[in-house]
Amino acid sequence: MRDKLRPLETYALETQLTKAGMGYTEHGFVNPGVYHCSTVLYPSVEALHARTQPYLYGRGGSPTHRAFEEGVTAIEGGEATLICPSGLSAITTALLTFVSAGDHILMPDPVYRPARHFCDTVLARMGVQTSYYDPLIGGDIAGLIRPETRIVYTEQPGSQSLEVQDLPAIAAAAQAQNVLVMLDNTWATGRFFNGFKHGADIVVTAATKYFGGHSDVMLGTITSRKSHFKALDDTHHAFGIAVGPDDVYLGLRGLRTLDVRLERHMKSGLAVARWLQARPEVERVLYPALPEDPGHALWKRDFTGASGLFSVILKPVSDAAVAAMLDGLSLFGMGYSWGGYESLVVPFDPRSYRSATRWDAGPALRFHIGLEAVDDLVADLTDGFARMARA
Ligand SMILES: *Cc1c(COP(=O)(O)O)cnc(C)c1O
Repeated sequence: MRDKLRPLETYALETQLTKAGMGYTEHGFVNPGVYHCSTVLYPSVEALHARTQPYLYGRGGSPTHRAFEEGVTAIEGGEATLICPSGLSAITTALLTFVSAGDHILMPDPVYRPARHFCDTVLARMGVQTSYYDPLIGGDIAGLIRPETRIVYTEQPGSQSLEVQDLPAIAAAAQAQNVLVMLDNTWATGRFFNGFKHGADIVVTAATKYFGGHSDVMLGTITSRKSHFKALDDTHHAFGIAVGPDDVYLGLRGLRTLDVRLERHMKSGLAVARWLQARPEVERVLYPALPEDPGHALWKRDFTGASGLFSVILKPVSDAAVAAMLDGLSLFGMGYSWGGYESLVVPFDPRSYRSATRWDAGPALRFHIGLEAVDDLVADLTDGFARMARA
């Protein structure tokens, strides 16, 4: 069966997700093995010197790694993928590959906060300067590019506040000046947003989220075209990044069901978001899939779907009342990360760390809508709003 398959990219994405990595299976098993590995043996001195065998040492990965890489490349749309031990490590490895002392990079103001921390500490210490920009800047990013600017980083949509960026406009402006465009595509994944088609040179994801899909693994990925792969691979190698095969296997396992999970996250996300929109306690729902969202037109133009993560701005209410609502929830858990099968909520307040844009909205909550029944989730939130009113 395996030898009857056409090249992976000639199939629809749903099919690719079920067949990625088939070339690494053995003995007729449907799935590749989980190779626990450090030493790889060479059959001869000649082979040892030639270094042409596919696996040289455990740090370089195993068939399990190659299979997951193949799956991620299929989804994200580039030509090759590297695996990192977390999404943050994928971001920092990709950034460090292309900067040296004296360089400058541009980061969107709502960027995932630990990435911001990396820029403000490690990169700053190395002599790399970061400027933060309004995510809605579009082609005007051209005005912020300096001769020493190496990277324009983007995130679709912005963390917590979910601004949709005009990536084609930003990428055109950056590439006109030979500046690399990176994209954090964790929210939509390549299933709902093809970063490369919209101008990204390098796409990173927190595979911890939807790829893993079960809140049981930390993983990150860096996908690029061949032209940037060697530089990325060199850095990845130089840092000694090696991810254990059990975790990589969980990533691959998650990919098999990514398509159906995302469809359900979107359907339920929309239903709960619409219900929240109609609540008297809610000022605004930040979710580009809703027609009322300021990013909706761009989302409609560039995305083919929305995942289950959105935010809500509440009308003025005391912290104690918000706590009364959240503390008593039974289905929604409170905790970081998202993209698993379960629903989550966390309060957030970006005022203390935004620098290029102003955030003056009221109390805000970020929701991840999992795979539970929408009616059960709505009942949990209804009880929560009742506790809020009583507090
Ligand atoms: C969670 C997240 C990351 C980091 O992923 P980890 O695996 O938790 O390190 C990066 N970017 C975005 C947008 C995220 O939500």
